[in-house]
Parts: sequence; structure tokens; C-alpha cells
Amino acid sequence: MLHSSTAKVTQLQLAELDVDRSLNCYLTDMGTIDRVPVKAYLVDAGGYRYLVDTGAPDEDYCRQWHRALVPGSRRDLVQVLLEQGAESLDGVILTHLHWDHAGNLDALDPAVPVFVQRAELAYAVSPLPLHRRGYDHLRSGKDHMPPWAGRELHLLDGDSVLAGGIRLIHTPGHSPGSQCVLVREHGGELAALAGDTVPTVRNWADQIPCGIHVSIADWYASMRRLREVATAVYPGHGDKVHTDSLSPASFEPPGYLLDRGHGVRQHS
Ligand SMILES: [Zn+2]
Repeated sequence: MLHSSTAKVTQLQLAELDVDRSLNCYLTDMGTIDRVPVKAYLVDAGGYRYLVDTGAPDEDYCRQWHRALVPGSRRDLVQVLLEQGAESLDGVILTHLHWDHAGNLDALDPAVPVFVQRAELAYAVSPLPLHRRGYDHLRSGKDHMPPWAGRELHLLDGDSVLAGGIRLIHTPGHSPGSQCVLVREHGGELAALAGDTVPTVRNWADQIPCGIHVSIADWYASMRRLREVATAVYPGHGDKVHTDSLSPASFEPPGYLLDRGHGVRQHS
């Protein structure tokens, strides 16, 4: 049954990145650099323990193939899990397969099931050229592979419920197979662990998609879904926020003014 148990969410900060604000917030404040965390989460629910996202690869790898981490900011995922008493996991949920969310997968027990949307894997193995780098796509003459390659993945087709009452909702936009993890926290709050569907609080507050996206229209539709179900959001690169503490986000679909009779009169 959905949400038959409450969940405990533990935030894990695995690294920091200095990024242009427009990378996280489309066309916003270009040239302004923000220092943002790379996050993962432990979710304990109904006797099951899940890790949501797995952080960024090691510093040399990031510098060579992606973006340099803030020096000294990276923490070893396995060590962090041990410190949290999470010696074993019942599953790993990947919000999507970008390098800073699905790194370190190869450091985890291969027997632990990994849950990812089928649409995400399909895109990750053959993305548009613009998005190849984000997926560690195998490029000619560069012999490195993404950490999820060669690993058995449990592929999901849209919304799903995992053991322990963990609900996953498919929220395309940032990537085709982005998903959010929906948990009912102690106290009754329904929180969404959003990955890069909501990379920072600003994306929700100002209704701006991530600078990296495959479909802005899909993103707004996903946000309307999130607004319906979640009363709190854990951004992929920010701190938890209660959605009702922000100005009411509308995420209106295109044409909404016409729907309300504010549009230009049309000949029929
Ligand atoms: Zn991403």
C-alpha cells in the first residue's frame, strides 16, 4: 500500500562544484558562479534502506572528463555510508544517469539492485551530441565508460512503488528518464527527492528549468505533477525546502491565458 510507512531521509554531501548559475537555472545570471553541493540521500522506510544517487567520480576523473570539483570537497561514498551505519543497502535509486548523480556506482556491491527509468538508459546510451558529455558517453578515441555500463539495472517504465512504500514518479524534462523519489517523512510531510528536476531552490521559486534539459514543456508538466503531490523538495544541488514557504509556483502550461479567456479573440 502506498505510504504505509514513514521514511527517514538522511542527506549526504559528497562534493562541491563551482558552476555558472545559468547551468542550473536556464538563461539566468550568466557569469555568476555558485558553489553548489553534490548530494545523495539515504532513505530508510518500512525496514528497507535505499541510497538515492551516488555522487561524482574521483577528482582526477572529474577534472579530465567533466568539471573540476572544489579541491578537497569530495568525500568517499563508501566511507560516508559506513559513517552512517549503512553497511548494506536494499537498493540504489538513480534520479538520472548524469555523471554527478551516478558516479561511484562501481564502488558498491554489485548484488544491490539499481533502479533507473528505462527511458533514461535508452537516452544515456545514445544521447544528442550536446548531452554526450554528461553521460560519460563513449566517444571515439576516448576509452572510458560510464560507471553504470556493464552493471545490471532494474529498468522502470514510469511511476513505480518499491518495497518499503517508496514511490518513484517519472518527471522528464531535465533528461528523458529523470525521476523523483517520493517519501512520507515523520510528521506526515510528503517530500520529493528531486535530483536535477529541481537542481536548486531557485528553480522551484522562479519556475525556471535547469539550463541542461531535453524538453522544457515536459519539465513544466513534471513540475505541475510535483506541485500536486509534494509539500517539500530536496533539490539535487541544494537544501531541503518546504514548497509552501515559497511564492506559489504555477508552472502554467503554454496557452493558459487563452484558456482563461484573456487571449486574442479568434475567428472560428
Ligand atoms: Zn543532471
